[in-house]
Amino acid sequence: MPLCEKVTVEIFEEKTEVSVCHCSRCRKWTAGPFFSIFIGKKENFKLVGEQFLKTYHFSSESERAFCKECGSVIYWKNEQDAQYSFNAELFPTLVNGYEIKKEYYLENKPNYYNLSK
Ligand SMILES: [Zn+2]
Ligand SMILES: [Zn+2]
Repeated sequence: MPLCEKVTVEIFEEKTEVSVCHCSRCRKWTAGPFFSIFIGKKENFKLVGEQFLKTYHFSSESERAFCKECGSVIYWKNEQDAQYSFNAELFPTLVNGYEIKKEYYLENKPNYYNLSK
């Protein structure tokens, strides 16, 4: 759930694998690396409160959605294959089981932070 709790995302299968994106676009978007869980196709989740979402297209390849009430990041969608990755922090009951599985654009990571796996 985002800060305002107006949007809920229900996933039908528990996820523990976290992807991290260090690209400059995700860092601008989230004020840090983007920690996400890959959910895949739309059939794999139920989103309630879609009217609170605002989407942003940096390019035709992806869609970024955030909550227009509180600004929380909701998902990144790959427009090529219509697969969704959600903000890992939307699922507080899962976070303690998370493990970082994959890091993207590590070569673009700035020096001021490091992740310890
Ligand atoms: Zn990124
Ligand atoms: Zn919100």
